[in-house]
Amino acid sequence: MHKETLALHYGYDKECHGTMSVPIFQTTAYDFETAERAANLFALKELGPIYTRLNNPTTEVLEKRLAAMEKGAAAIVTSSGQAAIFYAVANLAESGDNILVAKKIYGGATTLLTHTIKRFGIEARLFESDDASDLEDLIDENTKAIFFESLSNPHISVADTEKIVEIANRHGIVTICDNTVATPILFNPIQWGVDVTVHSLSKYVNGQGSAIGGAIIESETLNQKLISNPRYPHFNEPDESYHGLVYADLPFPIYTLRIRLSLIRDIGAAPSPFNSWLHIQGLETLGVRIKEHSKNALKIARFLQEHPKVKSVNYPALESSPYKAKVDKYFTDSMASGLVSFDVGDFDFAKKILNSTKIFSVVVNIGDSKSIITHPASTTHQQVKPEELEATGVTAGLVRLSVGLENADDLISDLKDALES
Ligand SMILES: *Cc1c(COP(=O)(O)O)cnc(C)c1O
Repeated sequence: MHKETLALHYGYDKECHGTMSVPIFQTTAYDFETAERAANLFALKELGPIYTRLNNPTTEVLEKRLAAMEKGAAAIVTSSGQAAIFYAVANLAESGDNILVAKKIYGGATTLLTHTIKRFGIEARLFESDDASDLEDLIDENTKAIFFESLSNPHISVADTEKIVEIANRHGIVTICDNTVATPILFNPIQWGVDVTVHSLSKYVNGQGSAIGGAIIESETLNQKLISNPRYPHFNEPDESYHGLVYADLPFPIYTLRIRLSLIRDIGAAPSPFNSWLHIQGLETLGVRIKEHSKNALKIARFLQEHPKVKSVNYPALESSPYKAKVDKYFTDSMASGLVSFDVGDFDFAKKILNSTKIFSVVVNIGDSKSIITHPASTTHQQVKPEELEATGVTAGLVRLSVGLENADDLISDLKDALES
């Protein structure tokens, strides 16, 4: 089945409850009926809901759909994208280990992976996002994961997924790709050999800016990579916190199972069933939305490119973009999602544009159906010294758009008025 169809139907049997909409199981716990069934569930002899911190029937529909759409074996949904990234890494690395992290990633992921995780004794080593030219030199026996974004936020660069996967596989290291901006509709990292994809569901999947959420999806082949691999002893040795369970012996996808049975169990960033339901509503229309986001963004990027007050435009699907070849290679119908940035060369002029637009809202979010405009130099990158700004790819006059689903001509005239006011 195609991904658009899976997004509407997969993982929910309408005949079970006779409802078109997936029911919201707003419950904390579940009635086991007998002591024997309770014991079987805890011993993993039977799989089923135990407690909503671990699993929930509404969330499970979302997990199944996301796994199917990403061509993966299993998924786990978390309360935020940040929690998903933390669990994805903490499931592999511990004190004394290192992880390799692409330079161009989401700001929250950078602080999590380079500052917060450092306090847990895990070192992040940064590599060049665009060509991974320095990646292999950073690997040693304590390297436990390679983390990158398929289509990066806010730099809007496209990773060389094939090259990263090839290097990782030669060393038996797990790759984690944040696929939030591309979405499973435009790109499936797992089909290109990536082991794990993570998502912030808060963005395009939700689509309405109505709830925070995250997800982790593992590939069919990840079990093979983990089992008997000396880099990953925790999957191969008895887990003392689960009465000596050996994950490698289980007939399930063990990477997300271990996140459920140990990390979510203990740290607890579990989603609310209601938020899972909101993400299910969003997922149903993701296919049509992301195509419209991409079409609108391309139209706007072309308009900006021709405008005399615009110095440069960054949109990977533009013919002039250095990422165009990778967009053609990796993304469905060469579509590149809804992020566009452009440089007007001047800090104050950029701020003036934000204050002049009427349809674009000044918000630090992306992926909403409503268009958003931001000025990184005066907000997200305010604390960065002017001389260091250029190095981060954020210039003083850079304006970033998350292009929504309004009529593109209205968005263009809004930007035109702002540029010429
Ligand atoms: C927003 C975002 C995150 C963090 O997700 P939250 O749901 O806000 O916690 C992670 N990665 C990318 C690419 C994002 O855009």
